[in-house]
Amino acid sequence: MADIHRHVRFAAITAALLCFAAGAARAQDKGTLNPHPLPPLAHPDDPATPAKELFGRKTEPVELPSLHTRTIGFYSKGCLAGAQALPVNGSTWQVMRLSRNRNWGHPDLVQFLERLANKAPKTGWHGLLVGDMSQPRGGPMRTGHASHQVGLDADIWLTPMPNRELSRVEREETSATMVVAEDRRDVDPNVWTPAHVAVIRAAAKDPQVARIFVNAAIKKALCRDAGSDRAWLSKVQPWWGHDYHFHVRISCPADSPQCEPQPPRPPGDGCSSKDLDPWFTEAMLHPKPSPFPVKPKPGPKVADLPPACRQVLLAP
Ligand SMILES: [Zn+2]
Repeated sequence: MADIHRHVRFAAITAALLCFAAGAARAQDKGTLNPHPLPPLAHPDDPATPAKELFGRKTEPVELPSLHTRTIGFYSKGCLAGAQALPVNGSTWQVMRLSRNRNWGHPDLVQFLERLANKAPKTGWHGLLVGDMSQPRGGPMRTGHASHQVGLDADIWLTPMPNRELSRVEREETSATMVVAEDRRDVDPNVWTPAHVAVIRAAAKDPQVARIFVNAAIKKALCRDAGSDRAWLSKVQPWWGHDYHFHVRISCPADSPQCEPQPPRPPGDGCSSKDLDPWFTEAMLHPKPSPFPVKPKPGPKVADLPPACRQVLLAP
């Protein structure tokens, strides 16, 4: 029974991650200097309303003193109270795509990013360009990711920070750097540098980091370039997309009893041919398009999320 449960859970996680993989490419979508506020919903109380339409309209975080938790639920099914914003500029980081208003997270995530940004220059990586974190109240997003719902996930561009403050236009319109080679079997040697390895290694070594998602070609390169210091590689999980950015996921915070952790990654560096080869088959590299039209999924409704998320949503 436990096994079945585990299997079902794994399948659910895989399905959730698959969606987020499908959305990952959209993380490259350009932003705009003049975001239009979303039109109000005609029937916001309709229980059939997708939760992403409701959470996607919340522009401010919420403090709920009655709710003794901040992170509520699972990475791909939950929400966030008491979110903090990562300041859009630090000496060694800059937030990209400001129009999306997704630079929110649990205070642990904000602290982690500041910590990593501080360390980055010492590793040879000039500074962090930070992509999506979470919405002000977390929850499902109208575009992009299936995870990033509880304020514990952050995308970091695989483009080093330039030596100057980027303009608003640049933050909306610059594309991140594709580091995977055209044949998808390895990284592009003209783009990949030791500093890429160093910044991912520094992130993985942070005790609060639970896992890091990268494209399989990047995992392969990390396995090759890591040298003898390899324990951190176990946290790095190959996943679809993630060829312009790496995705850092931190563990459930101590102040959040309603946070649902993810099972730990298997021990070992995950670099064996048994681990990596399945990612580089013809079917994986060039998947056949579905013979049926793929309908976009509406995603979870509020009733599908943990009950406390309704409070988070309804609070003024
Ligand atoms: Zn991500």
